[in-house]
Amino acid sequence: MAEIRLKNYNSKDTIAAIATFPSRAALGIIRISGKNALNIASKIFVPKKKKDIRKAENFTLHYGWIKESPKADCIVDEVLISIMRAPNSYTKEDIVEISSHGGVIVLNKILEIVIKSGARLALAGEFSYRALINGRIDLLKAESIADIVDARSEEGLRLAVRQLRGEVSSKIDKIKSQIQDIFTETEAYINFPDDDIDISFAKLKKKIGNVKNQMDLLFEGSREARVLKEGLRCVICGKTNAGKSTLFNRLLKEERVIVSRMHGTTRDVIEETISIKGVPLRIFDTAGILEPKDLVTKKAIKKTSDAFSQADLVIFILDASRPLNRDDRFILNRIKDKRAVLVLNKVDLKKKLKEKELKGFNGLKVHVSALKNIGIGDLEEAVFKTVYKEGLDRENVIFLNQYQQKILKSARGKIIQASDYMNDGHTLDFVNLSLKECLDDLARLTGQVFSEEILESIFSNFCIGK
Ligand code: GDP
Repeated sequence: MAEIRLKNYNSKDTIAAIATFPSRAALGIIRISGKNALNIASKIFVPKKKKDIRKAENFTLHYGWIKESPKADCIVDEVLISIMRAPNSYTKEDIVEISSHGGVIVLNKILEIVIKSGARLALAGEFSYRALINGRIDLLKAESIADIVDARSEEGLRLAVRQLRGEVSSKIDKIKSQIQDIFTETEAYINFPDDDIDISFAKLKKKIGNVKNQMDLLFEGSREARVLKEGLRCVICGKTNAGKSTLFNRLLKEERVIVSRMHGTTRDVIEETISIKGVPLRIFDTAGILEPKDLVTKKAIKKTSDAFSQADLVIFILDASRPLNRDDRFILNRIKDKRAVLVLNKVDLKKKLKEKELKGFNGLKVHVSALKNIGIGDLEEAVFKTVYKEGLDRENVIFLNQYQQKILKSARGKIIQASDYMNDGHTLDFVNLSLKECLDDLARLTGQVFSEEILESIFSNFCIGK
């Protein structure tokens, strides 16, 4: 990832970049933004209708050709040009987008011509950076753009788009204005002690408690977002031959793992992402947890064990056609403190497993035949219920990068502190200070106050052209 240094962004330049992924695609887009965008385009574009595109109306599309250089007659490609004038564009500057053919050579050639004609190559995230400084988007929206592009599930995409539309920003603004009101109230009381300002401590306490609850929900929501963004780490485990690979394939709905009757064929930990009810699950199919016998198994078991410790969810498979054995008990014991779903597999065969032996397990149990495709829907339901006991709280999902998450955590910490000060009967000065610090944090979160660190944390995840 290219390192972003804000001082390298110069907002006066006209910038250009390839906005699509150059490949053997039908179409590709080169984006030009800045004061000179229309001028540059007019130098290298030959319109079919002999019109000066600098005078073209906003939001119009023009058909023609790109020339090798302003002076040459040689044509490089047939293109469509779209014009978006300031301030009605993504960056709020003049933007010209050239839709050409999608090949690597042609896109790079056109970009080179654009640059020779007066544009500078844009740095990663520079278009979005301009959108931010020109007030088109705030920091939360900027973060959501990265999340839309990187979305791993439909649900994640839907929620990131909601954030881009400003729903999350306005929610935070609402909380911020409530805190501002409380802050003003305490400020008046502290600054004018002789003015007999009537302040009800009970009411103040209640108000602070109320904002604290809202902040708690947001904080939870930012964790939900992490799951929707990165996927929940889910490990499938069980003794050899329990049917892990078969189930894994069933969930993937395709045969990607070799299924075999020999014990311990799945030597490695395999990762795939599937989506259950819109929630992405990164599934790790493992070698099973057994006592190591040889070096290869030893290594595989070490990997399994690592995947297991980092798992957000465990799907533990038992072979219901066999009695519970030592390996099963070993795993049962290990998943006691984990979020887990227990799968009784091979229900198409005669049952030999005694369910009362599983009494110690508190999670959900499902009866499945991975081979015969029985009970897979129940399993998906159980997984969802285990992850979201109270259902997915979509209202409060908020996409933040690690740095923003830290700021939100700190803001929440300050409100908790204010609330504690109130409850412990400290003077209002303490409460006032915590509220002030909380407001500062929230201002940094939405981008009212920019810090280089936070901007760099966001834009370093952007690619060139975004
Ligand atoms: P793993 O070692 O846990 O990955 O187990 P596999 O998925 O390789 O399965 C071991 C054997 O059990 C294979 O022969 C599968 O066809 C068989 N198997 C898996 N699931 C079922 C099931 O639901 N019913 C029956 N009858 N056989 C199954």
